[in-house]
Amino acid sequence: MTTAQKQEFKQIIEAEIVSLGEEIEKIRAAIYPEKGEGTSDKVAHISFKQEQSLHFQRYEEATKRLGRLKRAMLKIDTADYGICQECEEAISFERLKLVPESVYCVACMNELVL
Ligand SMILES: [Zn+2]
Repeated sequence: MTTAQKQEFKQIIEAEIVSLGEEIEKIRAAIYPEKGEGTSDKVAHISFKQEQSLHFQRYEEATKRLGRLKRAMLKIDTADYGICQECEEAISFERLKLVPESVYCVACMNELVL
């Protein structure tokens, strides 16, 4: 991977970290509403609880991805970035553009998931 390509991925990762950070803030605000915004209505309260568990799921996924993005950011200036941890082949640019924090190539990812 060339320095220019790394620079490009660095920008992609940085942009992802910023937008994910904003999303996490929004989810956090939805999980912990300001006092007074809560409801005393029982039915509304149940759906609020259901919504909250969805928010928690999204929150967990978003924070996990943020961690992966930050690790990718630390790795990007090393020779390891863009190299599959499993087979040590280069990960395709198409995949890295979609998932810049990838540490596995598509073939290994599919095998690991199965
Ligand atoms: Zn691989």
